[in-house]
Amino acid sequence: METIKLKTSFTQSLPADPIIENFPRQVMNACYSFVQPKVTISPKMIIYIKEVASDLNLDKKFCESQEFIDIMSGNKLTEGSKPYAMCYGGHQFGHWAGQLGDGRAINLGEAEVSESHLNLQLKGAGPTPYSRTADGFAVLRSSIREFLCSEAMFHLGVPTTRALSLTLTGEHVLRDMMYDGNAAYEKGAIVCRVAPSFIRFGNFEIFTSRNDIDNLKQLTDYTIQQYFPDLVNDKNKYLQFFKTIADRTCDMIVHWQKVGFVHGVMNTDNMSILGLTIDYGPYGWIDNYDPNWTPNTTDLPGKRYRFGNQPIIAQWNLLKLANALYPLINDEESLKNIVQDFRLHYTERYLQMMKSKLGLFENEGDDESLIYDLEKILQVTEIDMTIFFRNLAAISDSSDEKDSLGIIKSAIYDETVTEEINKNIILWCIKYQKRLKAEKLTNEERKQKMNAVNPKYVLRNYMAQMAIDNAEKENFELIYTFYDMLKRPYDEQPEYENWFAKRPDWAREKIGCSMLSCSS
Ligand code: AMP
Ligand code: MG
Repeated sequence: METIKLKTSFTQSLPADPIIENFPRQVMNACYSFVQPKVTISPKMIIYIKEVASDLNLDKKFCESQEFIDIMSGNKLTEGSKPYAMCYGGHQFGHWAGQLGDGRAINLGEAEVSESHLNLQLKGAGPTPYSRTADGFAVLRSSIREFLCSEAMFHLGVPTTRALSLTLTGEHVLRDMMYDGNAAYEKGAIVCRVAPSFIRFGNFEIFTSRNDIDNLKQLTDYTIQQYFPDLVNDKNKYLQFFKTIADRTCDMIVHWQKVGFVHGVMNTDNMSILGLTIDYGPYGWIDNYDPNWTPNTTDLPGKRYRFGNQPIIAQWNLLKLANALYPLINDEESLKNIVQDFRLHYTERYLQMMKSKLGLFENEGDDESLIYDLEKILQVTEIDMTIFFRNLAAISDSSDEKDSLGIIKSAIYDETVTEEINKNIILWCIKYQKRLKAEKLTNEERKQKMNAVNPKYVLRNYMAQMAIDNAEKENFELIYTFYDMLKRPYDEQPEYENWFAKRPDWAREKIGCSMLSCSS
């Protein structure tokens, strides 16, 4: 196709803010405000995703044209586009924060693809009525992190929003990265994000908080009709809608725990109604298996969003969504049951997922205790999660004790482990190897199935930071390298073997590698 053609069902179906001037304000009785992206001085595209472009029917010639850069940087409006920012609220770190909204994300409209459509959104394209006291821009470092990670997650099979392009704006943005009074100018950038919908839990919460039930109903009906069409004629459609969201959210969290992803800011304004991973901010990847780790410095006091707490927070967020939808459902008991059952469903799916990571496909023995014992060992021994699970497939029911210990120890950060830890690892291995005898697959078959769930390549925090450090110097090679590598995270890729390694010592406490702030 020679250009991007967009539709605007969201704005055509739902009430708009009547004010069109762009200044920060409380927006009442509306789902969104019309807003124009800010013109940038000299935009330069760093990378675009060919597969996403081809889903949108965009050919190479168009993607290499100035027009594409202009559209992706907000300098030109494409055919049919009527840009807008959504109004939503949210619970941040456990407290109701009132109106938030798209403060620096501008929706361009929906592109039709096969039987559905994809929303295009420019993140960092300038201020909107929801920018509050901030500037509406995004810096290069956070844009690289969002761009690379959302694509990495997609290829890992995790439900996520995607990216079409990453563009430098040519402008500079002032940021106090660690909130310590050391503000500095950084390169501005824009990611064009792509998803069927960017509607969040907070889009519903804002209306209920204002007792605007009319708009709550309109938005819910629109969402069901567009994204849950099977429910349109269900006599309990609102309850079923909530149940489906709970189910998808559960699925998303199991995926996060499977690959070692920590979102870092699971506020209800960052929870997608479609169960997609959304809003990549101070996220992180588990290196040494530590359920208490949070990548987000703002989260450090209570570690609310730590790795091991993600399922509980998802459930808490669903409770907030249940409250928001209550005026349409009026059935406290049924809503409560769905929220309570989340825990049960999660545990079932989590154990099933962990069994597959361990290569246990038969229904045999006490796998639950084998899994929980392993979690304890991984935690106290500082074992690298990705390397441990990837290498585990090399242990068979007939491996000898020394070999098994060697395989596991290759994933340990501090190899000088105590005698007791050594003993615990060996005892666990003996139990594991005994359990493997009940498996019907050959060792090779089991290895293949395990490799399909235990990724070899993930976007470790220090890797993203290396790509950022180079990009700040206009060298984008590592972005291309990581993007290419992370397209096949479960495959052996000998040319990238050096990235299958433990986090280097220098990255242990470095800003950007182990500590990230919300500043972006
Ligand atoms: P986040 O923590 O990124 O999910 O953002 C929370 C809220 O702050 C959302 O309403 C964002 O749109 C808004 N926000 C974050 N950064 C900026 C920024 N640079 N300019 C305007 N609004 C922002
Ligand atoms: Mg957000």
